[in-house]
Amino acid sequence: MFDYQLIRSHRRKSLTIQIKQGQMTVRAPNYLPLSEIEGFIKRKSAWLEKKLTAQQTLLQNKVPLFTYQSKLFYFGQTKTLLIEFAAKPTIEISEQTLTVVLSYRQQKQLVSLNDITKVVKQALAKYFKQQLSCYLSANIPILSQQLQLFPLHYQVRFYKTRWGSCNSRHELSFNYLLIMAPKWVINYVIVHELCHLKHLNHSANFWLLVAKYQPHYKQAKAWLKAHQIELSWL
Ligand SMILES: [Zn+2]
Repeated sequence: MFDYQLIRSHRRKSLTIQIKQGQMTVRAPNYLPLSEIEGFIKRKSAWLEKKLTAQQTLLQNKVPLFTYQSKLFYFGQTKTLLIEFAAKPTIEISEQTLTVVLSYRQQKQLVSLNDITKVVKQALAKYFKQQLSCYLSANIPILSQQLQLFPLHYQVRFYKTRWGSCNSRHELSFNYLLIMAPKWVINYVIVHELCHLKHLNHSANFWLLVAKYQPHYKQAKAWLKAHQIELSWL
């Protein structure tokens, strides 16, 4: 059976079970016999077991984070997302894994799965922004040279529903979640936005220009569409 804390109250009308930080708390009305409480816990035991184990492992050190989605893309490659704790926060990438290292100081403040999810997402967002900025600063000049189209300025930001944008002031923006796409797909998005410097629309001429520099642009568009859900999890 489970270890739990039982809190009884005369005001309470129903029985509830809460699991927090790997600990179980049962709240019950004063009048409810212990046998009924135990019976209720027994009926829920499979679910409780699962939830308790998940939280307890999470409170230890190296564990897969999102049970519903522990994989994510990075430059088009699937990585298993891990979370670790160390003195200094950082992000480490290997062939198979992407490890978000949180500090011990952060660990103390994390009490629920929600807290951890939030902190990990923030860490990933910051890292993805840096990585995409780095990729763009290396590749926009090359592609600009080829197309002879030069943006005045570009930035990396978050968009819910688009990958990039171009305005009439010749400023480009890119969604940092693009870092999850393969390089050939990112390059297509760069070329797409650069072509808007000449055609600020999606006319036939615009697509002709895109196709001239990205002959496989349709595959790139299809890749983005096919992976939309995985790419938009942040
Ligand atoms: Zn466009």
